[in-house]
Amino acid sequence: MNIIMFGPNGSGKGTFGAIVSERFGIPQIETGVIFRQNISQGTALGKEAQAFINKGELVPDNITIPMILSRLKERDCKNGWLLDGFPRNITQAEAFWSALQKEQIQLDYVIELILDREMAKKRIMGRRLCPTDNNHPNNIYVKANLPVEKEGKLFCRVCGHEGLLTRADDQDEAAIDKRHGIYFDTKTGTLAAVIYFKERVKVVQLDTLPGVKEVSAHLLAMLK
Ligand code: AMP
Repeated sequence: MNIIMFGPNGSGKGTFGAIVSERFGIPQIETGVIFRQNISQGTALGKEAQAFINKGELVPDNITIPMILSRLKERDCKNGWLLDGFPRNITQAEAFWSALQKEQIQLDYVIELILDREMAKKRIMGRRLCPTDNNHPNNIYVKANLPVEKEGKLFCRVCGHEGLLTRADDQDEAAIDKRHGIYFDTKTGTLAAVIYFKERVKVVQLDTLPGVKEVSAHLLAMLK
């Protein structure tokens, strides 16, 4: 099963990608994670990518495209893959599509997670971390994940721990706007890539406003 998952930052791409990846036993390949690993290991690729990532810009296509194509040739991809974070612009979409055609690789599903820009931003900025477990979902703007509030203080909705935290990059409005600017750009950005795929394969669209449970059930039903 070969899948591309699109969705703006804040739409739950990581969460839903992990659910699909587990269900079908395929690796979730996140370009951002690959870059971050290369940076922390101090590889040549990491050194090249770092400056772009720090500025919130895309790493150039001549680095990103070959990196992904070679990643998909690794052994764990023999039963398929789920791409998360690639393609991110029209050039990557065109290059990827022609590589798939050339190697006669079928693209089974393209998933588009739908969330409007304002809500996506709120979801990022509303994220609160529980000091005992980062996986306890708390978000001051998501009804299903509201933390418990008592006397002006917030407590984890899962374990009741006091003193929820925010992640610095979740509060960096300029960086969020920059990334969303790239995603919502229908001319050359990520939405242009989505449009490109819509002209070639069936794109499954999914409204991500409901809670994680409902959205994942809906998603898995659509992929049967
Ligand atoms: P992410 O974790 O997906 O938000 O990615 C973090 C950063 O990695 C992005 O802001 C980009 O600088 C870089 N990046 C991730 N995916 C791509 C891609 N497909 N093309 C170029 N740069 C990327």
